[in-house]
Amino acid sequence: MRATLELVYRAAQAGPVMTPAGKAIAYGPAPHGDLAGRCYLCGEATDEGLPRRDVIKPTFTDHGIARDPDSDLVCPLCTWALSYSELRNYSILATPAGLRHPSRSEIRDVLLHPPAPPFVLTIAVSGQKWLHIKARVVYNRAAFSVLLEETPVLVRPTAVAALLDTIEELYSSFTKAEIETGDYQPHRIRRFGIKRWERLEEQIGMHRGSRLFDLLLHVAQKQTEEVEQGVLRL
Ligand SMILES: [Zn+2]
Repeated sequence: MRATLELVYRAAQAGPVMTPAGKAIAYGPAPHGDLAGRCYLCGEATDEGLPRRDVIKPTFTDHGIARDPDSDLVCPLCTWALSYSELRNYSILATPAGLRHPSRSEIRDVLLHPPAPPFVLTIAVSGQKWLHIKARVVYNRAAFSVLLEETPVLVRPTAVAALLDTIEELYSSFTKAEIETGDYQPHRIRRFGIKRWERLEEQIGMHRGSRLFDLLLHVAQKQTEEVEQGVLRL
């Protein structure tokens, strides 16, 4: 937890962070208190802690991950990490170069072409959960774990490309709900081409319901060329 929060904090101090909608967020420095002891959340010793009752809101539901549950103080780093609702509302990509709140399309690119480690990637779905306090720093970009909401997903970029291609070819003509459930509207299958649909369905069938499948479906984009072809076929 500590290594993740340190990376996110350092990244956030590098400058204003843009949300996918183009809003700039200025993350300030960590607040310092004067309490000595171990941090309730990360367990690290500090002499600049802040009162736990001021930092941990009644709505906080992650008490299960607290490293020192009996402590009445929270360290400056953890206080900072829980001070910005934006760190809960948006996905996070933290690298030593800076922090980003990536859009789904940017997350898609990161899964295909991850940055040089170390980095942290969390993907917010509800925007209501603290993910960065549960995420791990990635040190190996050939195979790494990211958080999709609270579920860790193992990502191998070489395996991502083929599965994502198939999902996105289907997404050119079908809805994400259809691809997720396998319950397709017959008229759309006819329009798409039964043989072509069968071939793609066969490729994704064994992945349906896996965490990686859910993640790639979440970030899948309509490919412009595919959409144009779809329009032409109509
Ligand atoms: Zn702490």
